[in-house]
Amino acid sequence: LVKEKSENKETNIQVIVRSRPRSVQEKQLGSLTCINTNPVKKEVYVQERNATKTFTFDRVFGPDSTQPEVFKSAALPVINQMLAGYNCTIFAYGQTGTGKTYTMIGERSPKGSLSWEQDPMAGIIPRSMHYLFENLNQQGLEYSMKVSFMELYNEELFDLLSPVDDANKLRLFEDSTHRGSCIVQGLAEVTVYNKEDVYVVLERGQAKRQTASTLLNAQSSRSHSVFLVTAYIKEKSMEVGHEELVKVGKLNLVDLAGSENIGRSGAVDKRAREAGSINQSLLTLGRVITGLVDHSPHIPYRESKLTRLLQDSLGGRTKTSIIATISPALVNMEESLSTLDYAHRAK
Ligand code: ADP
Ligand code: MG
Repeated sequence: LVKEKSENKETNIQVIVRSRPRSVQEKQLGSLTCINTNPVKKEVYVQERNATKTFTFDRVFGPDSTQPEVFKSAALPVINQMLAGYNCTIFAYGQTGTGKTYTMIGERSPKGSLSWEQDPMAGIIPRSMHYLFENLNQQGLEYSMKVSFMELYNEELFDLLSPVDDANKLRLFEDSTHRGSCIVQGLAEVTVYNKEDVYVVLERGQAKRQTASTLLNAQSSRSHSVFLVTAYIKEKSMEVGHEELVKVGKLNLVDLAGSENIGRSGAVDKRAREAGSINQSLLTLGRVITGLVDHSPHIPYRESKLTRLLQDSLGGRTKTSIIATISPALVNMEESLSTLDYAHRAK
């Protein structure tokens, strides 16, 4: 029995559910709460007409959860793995309007007087960068930190940090020197020296995301964004005159497209094609994760741009957190159930 249990724990994928508070709009609609959470028991309860469905996850956050709490349990273990030289990924998955961006990037308090890292509403990306700098500085290590910011829309990849104000598509190549890795040709890599640099980059990328979506006449809820942090850490060498070793850790912070398009099909117009391509990346991601959980011999990384891009940071010894965000309101129950099912398959 003990052996069985430890075998089950072998997977490096952690699945977390976060339910936000009911929104003003949902309250105005008079839409009651149909989803409750028990963070201690790690359970989510969905109240259907005359039955309650219970889901269990690795971690569950209710409407009162704070940004630091979510950072601590969803991101910290992953970042420590990254600092040890592994490639890691954190996803936010869920229906549009349920808190993916709130969780990944966060918001600024209305007064705007607080700096990002002091802001209780700051999300995982600023908190992670803050932690990375603090940790490496404290250890007195020599390092350099680079960030890239990409958007994936309709199976096309765009650079959110390229210095030119266009919407050039980026090409993805298999890396011939590292099997199972991809290279993004021409992707901007910005060296950041402190957390202030990070905020500048984040804001620049977000602004560009806006412009690009206007240019492409695109809806941001249909695109995935990937914030990639690469840390190059010089190892303290034991012997003088020895060759210097550099440890490289990668962290992908992914704000996925809204999951509401998943499962819809049939139409042939542009809108449907766009929706279809989102399905492709989200559906493939689901299959890749299920494959990893089931220890399947064939993982279909190559079947979507997103999974190709993240291929070297999903599976094997990499660590992954999936944060599934949901609304607790009755109007969104079908979408919440679909999100909970998707997330549960990753367990
Ligand atoms: P998404 O990125 O999934 O479309 P957002 O992150 O934009 O959703 O969130 C939608 C709205 O809900 C925003 O106004 C945000 O402030 C609010 N919100 C989301 N999650 C929470 C939460 N956990 N606590 C409080 N407000 C939240
Ligand atoms: Mg969003």
